[in-house]
Amino acid sequence: MTRVAFLGLGRMGVGMACRLTAKGHDVVVWNRSPRKAQPVLGLGARLAKTPAEAVTGADVVFTMLADDPASEAVWLGADGALAAMKAGSTAVECSTLTRRFVLDLAAKVQARGIRFIDCPVTGRPDVASAGKLTLLVGAAPADLAGMRPLLEEISETIRYFGPVGTGTAYKLMINLMGAAQIAALAEGLVMAEKLGLDREEVVKAIETSASASRQVVHHCRRMAERNFENPSFTTGLRHKDAAYGADLAREVGGAPVLGDASVAWFAAAKKLNADADEGLVIEAINQQSNRRKTPTGTLTG
Ligand code: NAP
Repeated sequence: MTRVAFLGLGRMGVGMACRLTAKGHDVVVWNRSPRKAQPVLGLGARLAKTPAEAVTGADVVFTMLADDPASEAVWLGADGALAAMKAGSTAVECSTLTRRFVLDLAAKVQARGIRFIDCPVTGRPDVASAGKLTLLVGAAPADLAGMRPLLEEISETIRYFGPVGTGTAYKLMINLMGAAQIAALAEGLVMAEKLGLDREEVVKAIETSASASRQVVHHCRRMAERNFENPSFTTGLRHKDAAYGADLAREVGGAPVLGDASVAWFAAAKKLNADADEGLVIEAINQQSNRRKTPTGTLTG
């Protein structure tokens, strides 16, 4: 049995923590909003009052937090996790963060004699609860080898990209592609609506078309029907991921033209409602396309 601390019980974290608890580990959890801990406490985990309290004595510390500021607060802030961890333990950072932040954090963690696994994930909350995530790992090979049995309890697939930072680099790249696909779907559906095409036929045709990626299939009917219930990924988080991804592309000399367009659309969607399902991007596009257009077709705000 491993003594595990799990920090961050949002949509993803709560399912992952439940999974580890159900597997019989000794789990202590912490979340900024303690009420979200109920499902995992029901399985036998204990609730700590601070990140520092949660990680005291832990062999492995998982974090699943919104973004860089959240991760910084939990690892390095007042009553933060890092200062309270024991040497020889392992930190597994699963949040989607900037590569720069991950590299800085890893250096601070390793300087204390603690192993660091860069471990962002793909898969939505239901996949996390089922223990079937895909883990995108950047770590020293020996560190991953030591953690593999535990990581396999929350995942179906572990993809290893190389040293710390490479898991995050891949995650930001693939999520930027995802943002572009979702925004392109929304633009296409708005166009179909303006053309007066039959909605049901359009949905069925898109879902079976050559453009039907899993992202497109996941969102197509929901967007067409303006069904934004039970959000699994929010406009706010999609905007964050896309912005982190586009910045990383620029940092390494890329030209994220589609990426920047996606960032702009998700910024507009976030402005409508940062906590809504990311499919709300169709409303941002619809609203902007209903405004006056220039003769060249450029939209004006
Ligand atoms: P979420 O439901 O919004 O949860 C965010 C978590 O971060 C919550 O525990 C929240 O605490 C915490 N948090 C935010 N700001 C904080 C702060 N300043 N200090 C301390 N804690 C803070 O998000 P999620 O969907 O679980 O996503 C978590 C991470 O996984 C994100 O990096 C996301 O990009 C990534 N991800 C998500 C999905 C998905 O489908 N949802 C898939 C793959 C990866 P409170 O509960 O107190 O707000």
